[in-house]
Amino acid sequence: MSSLTLKQALTLGIETLDECASASLDCEVLLADVLEKNRSYLRAWPEKLLSPTEHQRFFELINLRQQGQPIAYLLGFREFWSRPFIVSSDVLIPRPDTELLIEVIQQQFPPEQTLSILDMGTGSGAIAVTLALEFKNAQLTAIDASQAALNIAQQNAQRLHATNIEFIHSNWFDNIKPQQFDIIVSNPPYICSDDPHLIEGDVRFEPSSALISKRQGLEDIERICSAARPFMKANGLLLFEHGYQQGNQLKNLLESSGFKSIQQFQDIQGHTRATLGQAS
Ligand code: GLN
Repeated sequence: MSSLTLKQALTLGIETLDECASASLDCEVLLADVLEKNRSYLRAWPEKLLSPTEHQRFFELINLRQQGQPIAYLLGFREFWSRPFIVSSDVLIPRPDTELLIEVIQQQFPPEQTLSILDMGTGSGAIAVTLALEFKNAQLTAIDASQAALNIAQQNAQRLHATNIEFIHSNWFDNIKPQQFDIIVSNPPYICSDDPHLIEGDVRFEPSSALISKRQGLEDIERICSAARPFMKANGLLLFEHGYQQGNQLKNLLESSGFKSIQQFQDIQGHTRATLGQAS
């Protein structure tokens, strides 16, 4: 195999990904990952030669990227709330939008508050682990219907030293012992199965069980709303991330399920993306 310099490898990689808007950044990120260096190393040492193993691994990654594989899955991690989370195709890739849920809870409670928090459909554990670390006196319970997702979430808790989380394999409330939480938070599946976004970009490779919900994307949210009350303290909070066009439906759903003091919050694009209700 002929040896390429870092610069030549990047040029070839960018040519291969020519249809991808982020070709140049993607190539740099993947090459830096293969070399276990940061991106500035590539600029500092453009004439350095790739070893045969590095060459092979880099072009394997480039081919997977060309087929559409998300960068987060190729690297095996994604940052959330400035911490690195392990991800695999068993879990949804954490989104910046979802950081809104953390901000909302931080607005409601001081960091030293003693809280019991349930995260429903924890996936990579991004929400549960972040809350566990930001609220040191909180006790978290994180559930998911996917054992594979729970394994990832547990690895993230361990790597990031979040010890105050109990993980439970459960389809929504099915395996949760009777108890009452201060906060129930969820980023459930909420996309309608015929949504055109599902055939574009990263979501094509993400678990559909984490994305799609029946009844216009609302079935899982409805199920959680209607079963949540016995698991909540009086005045406890129920907080959802939801689709940017589902704000009115969420407000009505929470109200008709007996929740009061509904508040809604906007994501970085200015869309209503999270809704909070208080148990009476
Ligand atoms: N916000 C994600 C998206 O639009 C979906 C996350 C979810 O369904 N919970 O791709």
